[in-house]
Amino acid sequence: MPHPAARRVAGMGETIFAEMSALAARTGAVNLGQGFPDTDGPPVIIEAAVAALHTGANQYAPGIGVPALRQAIARHQQRHYGIELDPDRQVVVTTGCTEAIAGTLLGLVDPGDEVVVLEPFYDSYPAMIDFAGGVRRPVTLRAPDFRLDPAELEAAVSARTRLILLNTPHNPTGRVLDATELAAVARVAIEHDLIVVTDEVYEHLTFDGHGHVPIATLPGMAERTLTLSSAGKSWSVTGWKVGWATGPAELVAAVTAAKQWLTFTSGAPLQPAVAAALDAGDAFPTALARDLQEQRDQLVAGLRAAGLTTYLPQGTYFATTDVGDLGWASGGDFCRALPERAGVVAIPSEVFYDDPDAPGSGRHLVRWAFCKRPEVIAEAVRRLVASDLRR
Ligand code: GLN
Repeated sequence: MPHPAARRVAGMGETIFAEMSALAARTGAVNLGQGFPDTDGPPVIIEAAVAALHTGANQYAPGIGVPALRQAIARHQQRHYGIELDPDRQVVVTTGCTEAIAGTLLGLVDPGDEVVVLEPFYDSYPAMIDFAGGVRRPVTLRAPDFRLDPAELEAAVSARTRLILLNTPHNPTGRVLDATELAAVARVAIEHDLIVVTDEVYEHLTFDGHGHVPIATLPGMAERTLTLSSAGKSWSVTGWKVGWATGPAELVAAVTAAKQWLTFTSGAPLQPAVAAALDAGDAFPTALARDLQEQRDQLVAGLRAAGLTTYLPQGTYFATTDVGDLGWASGGDFCRALPERAGVVAIPSEVFYDDPDAPGSGRHLVRWAFCKRPEVIAEAVRRLVASDLRR
């Protein structure tokens, strides 16, 4: 007897990241698809986790997170951005930023509410907007600059808009929103009395002096902004899945209300370890950003040498190319052919758009991860340069 899936998941395949990592494993290709570093985080964080495992941090943590981590997150926001938070009411620890996104959308969006979201969008955003019964209103960032057009943002807002979902530094384009763009978002949010939710997981991974500015620091924004982040990217522990949401107590309470039915509470021994990392200062993320900038330059130069039109990212783990110039109508076709052609895996950005065929959209765009050791990038580049990448 057939047991079809519920409508909310019917037709959903696995994520593009799972599909492409499996393709890399199957073909032995160099995996520049899913964004995860191939070097682990610093000893301070690993040893703190081991110590926590040995000293009894193995039962349920409080639902909102252990006090030491909530306090360390509040100190981090204070130290970097001058944001003052009450760690008992304005911080909730989540299972990665992905759960913060889920909790936020389930906790704040009613069926029929509209969510304005930057496009291309990280794939969990549309999935969770759908689960919440919300309607997405994308605002497209277009190549070559991937700038946010304030007029398009304004046009995407309606009487039904509930929140604006930002992501900066932006996955997949690598854009870091600048002061003008952030001010435009703030103006629209204040004028229409909207909540802004901002995914800032790449906050420390910016290049060439493109500093990250949290929109919560703009005048009039702290009271309407929920900021999401995590330890995974800044401390190279993407598999730990420790994230957080911070902001006004009533917004954090809404996330917490949803979170309690998702995971109830997040991994207890990893929380004191992340607290230790946050309190150890900025040496690790600062060095990581410096290394990543070099790896970015190495990969971008290599992609260009292989004949690919490549946009220089300002932050994140990712660079984007346009494979249309090589005769490919679809980045998906390119990426599925690439392991056999060149022994490399990348991510087709077309899956991050509502309509990848709209003007200035992303049917031809492909995302490459450079959060890999230089020798791995060198091998990928060697393979790409030696291959015929034309359709
Ligand atoms: N955030 C990472 C990326 O964009 C991993 C995503 C995932 O596997 N869900 O590649």
